[in-house]
Amino acid sequence: MNPADLPPELATPSSPLINAVRVIAQGPLAQQAYAIDRGTYPEAVLKQLAAAGAMSAHLPQADGTPGDYGLAIAAMAEASKVCGATGFMMWCQSVAGLYMLASGNPALNGERLTRHMLGEALGGTGLSNPMKSFAQIESLLLKATPVEGGYLVNGTLPWVSNLAADHYFGAIAAVATDDAGTSREIMFMLRCDAPGVTLKACPEFSGMEGTGTFSVHCKDLFVGRDDLVADPAKPLIARVRGGFVLLQCGMATGIIQGAIDSMWAVEGQLGHVNQYLEDRPADLQAELDALLVRVMTLAETPFETATEYFIDVLDARSHSAELCLRAANSALMHQGARGYLMQSAVQRRVREAQFVAIVTPAIKHLRKEMARLSAQEMPA
Ligand SMILES: Cc1cc2nc3c(=O)[nH]c(=O)nc-3n(C[C@H](O)[C@H](O)[C@H](O)COP(=O)(O)OP(=O)(O)OC[C@H]3O[C@@H](n4cnc5c(N)ncnc54)[C@H](O)[C@@H]3O)c2cc1C
Repeated sequence: MNPADLPPELATPSSPLINAVRVIAQGPLAQQAYAIDRGTYPEAVLKQLAAAGAMSAHLPQADGTPGDYGLAIAAMAEASKVCGATGFMMWCQSVAGLYMLASGNPALNGERLTRHMLGEALGGTGLSNPMKSFAQIESLLLKATPVEGGYLVNGTLPWVSNLAADHYFGAIAAVATDDAGTSREIMFMLRCDAPGVTLKACPEFSGMEGTGTFSVHCKDLFVGRDDLVADPAKPLIARVRGGFVLLQCGMATGIIQGAIDSMWAVEGQLGHVNQYLEDRPADLQAELDALLVRVMTLAETPFETATEYFIDVLDARSHSAELCLRAANSALMHQGARGYLMQSAVQRRVREAQFVAIVTPAIKHLRKEMARLSAQEMPA
C-alpha cells in the first residue's frame, strides 16, 4: 500500500526514539506550544527531548552505533508537527553538536560533547551571517585579531537562537588580514557567559518568540584553543554543509505533516466545501512522501562533497520550504475561522512556515546558491 493512502498516524515512522519523541511531543510539548509561540523558552522540554536522543541521533553513539541523519530528521519532524519553534531549536542543538564533533578538538569532544548530546548543556549556531557571506550576500560581522594563545573577537550577530546565559553556539569570525594580504576565518564555540559577551533582547518577532533568540555583542572576547572548532574554517564548513542544510528538512517536513493532519481533522465536517480548494491533503501527502524519500536518500551520505550532491540537498531544502508555505496556507483555508483563532496551531503554523522560508538558507539564498553552483558545474 502506498504510504500516501495510510491515515497520518500509521504513515509516521516508528522506532524507539521516534516513539519517545512522540510521547514528549504529544504530551508536555503540545501543552506548551501556545506559550512557546507567545515567548516561553521551553528549556525543560528541550532537555527531555535531548535526553531521549532526539538531537544527537545523527552523531556516533557511545555504544558504537554510527550517526543516522535520517533518524535525526524524523525525530525533529515528530516534534515540529506539534511545535515548529521547538523543531527549530532541536536543529540548533543538533548542528552545534555536529560542529563540536567535526572539530576533532579533544576539548570540544569527550565530556563536553557527551553533556551536549544528553541535553545537560544547550547551544546553537550563529552561522547565518557566514553562510550569507560565503554566498556573497553580506559581509562577515565578527572580526578576530590574533593574540597570544588565541584570538580577540569583536562584533555583533543580530540574532542567534536557543540561547540563555550559560549556553553557547558555533560562530565564525574573519581573521584580520596578514601582511601578505591573505584572508581566512576561524570557527569557534562562543560561550554566552564569557567575559566580553552580552546577550540583548531582539525586537518582537511575528513568530518563533520562544526560541531564546538574542543579539550577541562581543567586545574583546578571548577565544582560546579549547573553544576552537576550525582554523581555517572553510574546509570544515565544506564537510558539514550537507548535514547542516539537510537537518533543517526535519523542521519543514514536520510542519507540513502537521498542516496536512489539521486538514483531515475537518474533512468530515467541511469536506463537502473544502473539496473546491487546491492543495488538498491527499495531494500534499503524496508530494510530502516523495520529498521524504528524496531527503532520506540524501541523508544516507551527508558528508558527500560532490557539488552535484550539494545542489540536490539545496533543492530538497528549497522544495521543503515551498511545500511548507503551501501546506500551512492551505490548512488555514481548510480550517477557516477555527484555524484563525490565536490559540490555533493552524495559524501558528503559517508563521512557522514563513520562518522556514526565511531562515538561512532562505529560499532566495538557496536559489542563488543553486544557480551559482549549477553554472560552475556546466561544461564551458
Ligand atoms: C526568529 C529568528 C531566529 C533566528 N535565529 C538564528 C540563529 O539561531 N542563528 C543565525 O545565525 N541566524 C538566525 N536568524 C537569522 C536568519 O537565519 C536569517 O539570516 C534572517 O532571517 C535574514 O535572512 P535573509 O536571508 O532573509 O536576509 P535579509 O533579511 O534579506 O537580509 C539581511 C540583511 O538585511 C539587513 N537587515 C536585517 N534586519 C534589518 C532590520 N531590522 N533593519 C534594517 N536592516 C536589516 C541586514 O543588513 C542584513 O545583512 C534568525 C532570524 C530570526 C527572525
